[in-house]
Amino acid sequence: MKRVMTIVGARPQFIKAAALSRVLRHDDTIKEVLVHTGQHHDVNMSATFFEELDIPEPAWNLGVHGGRHGDMTARMISALEELMLNDKPDLVLVYGDTNSTLAGALSAVKLHIPVAHVEAGLRSFNRRMPEEINRVLTDHASDILFAPTEAAVNNLKREGLHGRHHVLVGDIMFDVARYYAKRAESHFEQLAKELELHLGKFALVTIHRAENTDDDTRLPAIVRQLMELSGFMPVICPLHPRTRHRMQLLGLLEMAKRHIQFLEPVSYLQMVALERHAALIITDSGGVQKEAYFHQTPCLTLREETEWLELVEHGFNRLVDVHEDSLPELAQQMLGREYDWDIPLYGDGHTAELIRDELVAFFVSGTGTGTPPETGHFSRNMIHSGEKEA
Ligand code: UDP
Repeated sequence: MKRVMTIVGARPQFIKAAALSRVLRHDDTIKEVLVHTGQHHDVNMSATFFEELDIPEPAWNLGVHGGRHGDMTARMISALEELMLNDKPDLVLVYGDTNSTLAGALSAVKLHIPVAHVEAGLRSFNRRMPEEINRVLTDHASDILFAPTEAAVNNLKREGLHGRHHVLVGDIMFDVARYYAKRAESHFEQLAKELELHLGKFALVTIHRAENTDDDTRLPAIVRQLMELSGFMPVICPLHPRTRHRMQLLGLLEMAKRHIQFLEPVSYLQMVALERHAALIITDSGGVQKEAYFHQTPCLTLREETEWLELVEHGFNRLVDVHEDSLPELAQQMLGREYDWDIPLYGDGHTAELIRDELVAFFVSGTGTGTPPETGHFSRNMIHSGEKEA
């Protein structure tokens, strides 16, 4: 049995890990050792996901959270290095673009342990984003690059990584979205009752990117825009702890509460239920932009750029200039459009199996299958096309 050490630490990584962990559990050639760095540690940012998505209990929890980026990453590297020296994994697998991702990749590569990166090749080309630095460095430290989109593959090639083993596997979040969509449905009724929501008649909002929360002009502008929008439709916002803290500091929370319904972070199934039945999603989250499309809800993105260009190109998503645009106007435009949700963008929901197959091949040959899916490999994309209520 080969040992794959998977490093997770933040909410979106638990969600991505749910799909691959389920597949690896049924493989008798690979044993997964799950390590939680501790980056997200509140119950509703961590434990809830393990329970709800049936993710195995991590073998190790390093309990590292808080502090500045360098400090947090350094403490993770120190703990991970020791763990890897003792555990001797055959490969380390990391997801996405958080400090946990970078710490996992750096610790492993220095110990000459092969690194696999899921969500390789994404770029915002904004080097002020901590996530951009994490993903560029992680890609360059990795031996196997699992790219979700063709644009991501092209980014890897442009950076000279085409010689490295890279595979277009689609987006693993789509696997999770497909698997849980039906189950999430049952959560809507309860939420609708509690929050007095009507099907397809509210906007769902998430904000957590540092470029928004830590900017003293952008956060007030966003809150003002959302308050304006609440004059047209109810606005529901599960609030990330960082955003709550910043809004309190800037004295925005009390005023905004009178217009916007703030919730604690919700569970994945609750989030999916809200995403499926919102009229519109407004977010700065990478994962939520894609989920909007998976669940056929138009999306406005509170950022100047996105890694998920194809969503914008096909009109499912639109970037918002929070200082110049008017959210109520953009919302109206998005709601007035027709969408062809059947355009396949992120694979066929079997990304986890493709990753498993590549890992198995890598262990056998040392190079992987060498037969990455060609362009156009992905066929139909939707969860239940046409089944979503208006
Ligand atoms: N999410 C959730 N509860 C919430 C907000 C988000 O379960 O209250 C989920 C969401 O459905 C998506 C993931 O968290 O699957 C996105 O994570 P996040 O926005 O924190 O990170 P990003 O995707 O921007 O890296």
